[in-house]
Amino acid sequence: MLALQGDFEAHSAALSELGCHPVEVRRPQQLDGLQALVLPGGESTTIAKGIAAGGLEQPLRDFAGSGRPLLGTCAGLILLGCDHLGLIDIEARRNAFGRQLKSFEADLVVDGLGDEPLRAVFIRAPWIERLGPDVEALAEVDGHAVVARQGNVLVCAFHPELTDDLRLHALFLSMADRTPADRHASAVAGAATSLS
Ligand code: GLN
Repeated sequence: MLALQGDFEAHSAALSELGCHPVEVRRPQQLDGLQALVLPGGESTTIAKGIAAGGLEQPLRDFAGSGRPLLGTCAGLILLGCDHLGLIDIEARRNAFGRQLKSFEADLVVDGLGDEPLRAVFIRAPWIERLGPDVEALAEVDGHAVVARQGNVLVCAFHPELTDDLRLHALFLSMADRTPADRHASAVAGAATSLS
């Protein structure tokens, strides 16, 4: 869990409910041995500054390059896109639905999560303005992609950590299950102890 700013605690709680042992990451060494990484919602400018100040940019690229899954939600989507880390071939439009007053909820059918719509909480959310040819859009609002995936990188414009519906987190974890990083499980447990 990238824990520089934003609502990383809510994500950690959601992942704990699914049986994970989330570890808070603020320094490059804390990425060692992790199986997957979440970039939470928050303020993308602030988190981007923290990434630069903490020397995390290249380590995050290396992490993605190793094939381990990344999930970026809201500000995390912006950070994973081409304007920042470039780990998924999308361009995000910040505050695309308007500012705080225009925050809203919607029931979204997301490809891969069954027919039952997912309650999606949008807070000053981005949408995906451009998707590269290798990016798959998994859900849209008003014709704009709001969930997308390219290989081991999953992004969504809303806040799945703020509802009880954990299907998006479960999809993300299923991506982690399929990576060779499973062998790092014991190292994750060790890192969790050192951070507690
Ligand atoms: N509007 C915020 C930004 O640009 C994102 C909001 C959020 O993560 N809920 O960075």
